[in-house]
Amino acid sequence: MKFKYVIVGAGLAGLTMAERIANVLDEKVLVIEKRNHIGGNIYDSYNEEGILIHNYGPHIFHTNDQEVYNYLSGFTRWNDFWHRVLTYVDGNLIPMPITVETINKLYNLNLDCSQVEEFLRKQALPIEEIKTSKDVALSKVGQDLYEKIFESYTRKQWGIDPSELDTSVISRIPIRLNRDTRYFSDKYQGMPTHGYTKMCERMAENRNIKIMLNTDYKEVLKDISYETLVYTGATDEFYDFKYGKLAYRSIRFVFETYDREEFQEAPVVNYPNDYDFTRITEFKKLSWQQHNKTTICKEFPFTGGEPYYPYPTKEYKAQFAQYEDEMKKETNIIFLGRLAEYRYYNMDGVVRRALDLFNQRIRKGE
Ligand code: FAD
Ligand code: UDP
Repeated sequence: MKFKYVIVGAGLAGLTMAERIANVLDEKVLVIEKRNHIGGNIYDSYNEEGILIHNYGPHIFHTNDQEVYNYLSGFTRWNDFWHRVLTYVDGNLIPMPITVETINKLYNLNLDCSQVEEFLRKQALPIEEIKTSKDVALSKVGQDLYEKIFESYTRKQWGIDPSELDTSVISRIPIRLNRDTRYFSDKYQGMPTHGYTKMCERMAENRNIKIMLNTDYKEVLKDISYETLVYTGATDEFYDFKYGKLAYRSIRFVFETYDREEFQEAPVVNYPNDYDFTRITEFKKLSWQQHNKTTICKEFPFTGGEPYYPYPTKEYKAQFAQYEDEMKKETNIIFLGRLAEYRYYNMDGVVRRALDLFNQRIRKGE
């Protein structure tokens, strides 16, 4: 079989590339996907009860990148959605991220914004050089809030202490000196009106795009000739683990359906200090679906399963750098996405990267 373009992985990265190649260049492209569906980790589906669930954990689209937002809006309409998260601390459900409301509720105070600023200034620890996620938290909120909100959640999520994770992990969570209790403050936020899978199907709606599901690329690539390969799988696997296995954090998603309309107060509730799971998502609160039952998902992180999160640690980044040296030598292989680039990308980051690489490496060569 001969294809000018072959893509490994039908996640958001692979589909964005496929869509651009098929629509902009009007070229045929083969997408090889080992799962039995497209969409990668943003895949959603209706469960036995008919409730729309996110099969790989809660996904909320948010971005400040207008081009990315406009691009995806070509394939879906959006339900305006401001994500809200509560966290269960000392027997109370308090808003996450830390805002004026969080401080007041947690410490039973009634401070205004400038008083909270003063409060946090007193709590914050002087840290000379901020090198780790623990430093980030301590320098912004001090020991007590660090222990109540970040320390145990992070240990559960990553299996290691926040002092071993680089600054990027806890820096994802803002500290707000106002009453904005939305989880994200990006300009564009939303949920695809008919779900992520429908959006992905529309991206792949072009006769130029051929998708081979249930197929590990290693089974078939030797029988396919191509000019350019876009690889969105794990890089260590691509190089037969020659520099060792890269570590990824995995999650066991446990779904439960309850015979009642509502389960919890917010779409997501975090449990930093109780239970083995990190958080519970109630899907109807993401989709606004009407149903007399409700489905939730508990997330139990572990290491060794399906790779979801690359590890932002010094040690693993150094290991990945060895693979990166190999990747740079490849002239007709483009590595893209959360697995291939070993980067903790959000959806918008992956689409941005795919659009950029398409323009720089594929379109330019035309
Ligand atoms: P993937 O979705 O992992 O796609 C890679 C694809 O390649 C997969 O389908 C895989 O099966 C396939 N593949 C791998 N190896 C092979 C092989 N050997 N042969 C063939 N196919 C192969 N982002 C947000 O913006 N907002 C959120 O709220 C959010 N929540 C998240 C929650 C969780 C629990 C997780 C894990 C991620 C979340 N993300 C969120 C991030 C989002 O999932 C990613 O940014 C996005 O899915 C990355 O797309 P990708 O194509 O790079 O990777
Ligand atoms: N985090 C935390 N407590 C929380 C929420 C998040 O300590 O209540 C930390 C944790 O280390 C997590 C990181 O902040 O991995 C990023 O959180 P985010 O909600 O962005 O995680 P994701 O949705 O990517 O799993």
